Amino acid sequence: MRVQSPSMRERTKNVLATFSERSSPHSRNQRTAALKGPLTMSAPSKPSQRLKIALAPGDGIGPEIMDAALALFKEAGVHNHVDFVPTEMGRVVFDKGNTRGITDESVRIVEDCGVVFKGPMETPKGGGGKSVNVTLRKLFSTYANFRVFKTLPGVQTVYSKAGINLDFSIVRENIEDTYGGVEHRLSNDMIQCKRLISAPGCDQIHRFTFHTARKLGIKKVFCGHKANIMKMTDGLFLDRFKAAAKDFPEIEIGDVIVDALCMNLVIKPQQYQMIVLPNLQGDIVSDLAAGLVGGLGFAPSANIGKNISIFEAVHGTAPDIAGKGLANPTALILSGLMMLRHIGLLKQAATIENALLSALESGLHTGDFGDPALPGYTKEPANTNQFVRGIVEKLGEKPKTVTPAEVPEQSTPTFETSPRPEGQTMIRTFVNIVSHVVGCDIYLDSPLSPPAVAEEMMRASQDTPFKLSLISNRGTQVWPTGSVYTECVDYYRVRFELREGNLPGTIGQSRAVALMDKIAEKFTICSYELLRIFDGVRGYSMAQGQ
Ligand code: NAD
Repeated sequence: MRVQSPSMRERTKNVLATFSERSSPHSRNQRTAALKGPLTMSAPSKPSQRLKIALAPGDGIGPEIMDAALALFKEAGVHNHVDFVPTEMGRVVFDKGNTRGITDESVRIVEDCGVVFKGPMETPKGGGGKSVNVTLRKLFSTYANFRVFKTLPGVQTVYSKAGINLDFSIVRENIEDTYGGVEHRLSNDMIQCKRLISAPGCDQIHRFTFHTARKLGIKKVFCGHKANIMKMTDGLFLDRFKAAAKDFPEIEIGDVIVDALCMNLVIKPQQYQMIVLPNLQGDIVSDLAAGLVGGLGFAPSANIGKNISIFEAVHGTAPDIAGKGLANPTALILSGLMMLRHIGLLKQAATIENALLSALESGLHTGDFGDPALPGYTKEPANTNQFVRGIVEKLGEKPKTVTPAEVPEQSTPTFETSPRPEGQTMIRTFVNIVSHVVGCDIYLDSPLSPPAVAEEMMRASQDTPFKLSLISNRGTQVWPTGSVYTECVDYYRVRFELREGNLPGTIGQSRAVALMDKIAEKFTICSYELLRIFDGVRGYSMAQGQ
């Protein structure tokens, strides 16, 4: 194992010591506050106090690794300053028929504590309750999911074997995108998931990214996206990235299409230091990144919001090994170290980190990593408890093959909860924009052919200010032009635009609704979107092939 350069160790130390974006209360000026607000380290000394942290052990391997992490933290003196307040969330709550997966009392505990230490929670695939993990992130506006991927001593990967140390992070937008899970069955054969990307949502995540990069001394930040295809949603994500970058001139920016990013990460991951991505893409790329540093057992994360933060491993409940005591608690421990630094227990965090690194470099390993055939590894993998006992034995020691974490004097909590807001706040980016109706897209459940739909639509719209301009099926134009080879399903978009002579601004939404009403006499209307121009710019996409 190569000794890491001090600069790499320094950066790592800081990665685990950052966040807690605190800014002034919201409102019109909230935008400015949220965007310009300092990303403070939680380190400056405050009077010593006991802190409350909401505790959610989770499902599957969650309780096993949480017990292990807490046992280690207790040995390091964390419990002298912190009370872990149990909460009820996850499977136990779903099983009682609560579809939200978290009790009202637990919501209140989280709001009061402002910090959550959380194990993974199970989400049924297909049907069943919504992901409580996602619910928590959205409920408490933890908009930035900061995930760190770093080569660790004793954790062999193709890169470590080649002498290449990895140390990069992914900032995943945590609230928007398809993770709203806004889904509808629109016809017999069509189901839709809405992908929502907002300008203030983008601004929050990008400013968090640049603030964090600045604190860590990162020179270049990449934005991953698919703006070549989703020109408006990912286009906005990319535009706001470039806009946010203007306030951080010392940081170089780059953007990369997400599929190419995946290839680049496999071929040459060391070219990246920090990548910001929309929610779903960030989720997928994160697991790829975890694979580069030894697997999900080594990928910690912090969900950071203005008021509440949630610390959890990237991995899930690992149902294949749950209950066997085999799980690797490292990712949860590393997430906990982010949390300890967030609340100001810097000395304890560094002490535990050094013990963990020392234990790993001594060859201690769980079954998910460490090849017994290699020198330095114990013959048999440790179980979760043995693994943690091995780390406890190293408390007070420092690793020899990598630069140890610097152990600061700061060892009492500095975190303070924010005052409880009176209600939900509105966050805004663009104000004073002038918009005008120029048409509407009406979505129909119909098995008719495109020409038959066109005939009906022209008849319905003949005495209205709107003319039929196109029909598309699964996003591809099938009328007035198209290909007979385009296969259609039972769900159409019909687009109506203002007839010549009707200027934007002269026709209101009610005329479009009246047209929809008329069409509804014969067709099932699944949904409807107004077509508008915003400050003269088209606010809707073209059809494929238009
Ligand atoms: P998973 O992360 O639970 O497991 C993937 C693989 O990695 C499994 O082989 C597992 O054994 C292994 N693994 C994961 N963590 C490990 C650890 N600490 N030590 C050793 N091996 C580990 O992913 P999955 O199987 O796709 O999901 C299982 C459940 O977890 C699902 O219900 C999913 O929704 C949920 N999930 C929750 C979270 C969260 O709470 N934040 C995140 C991801 C998945």
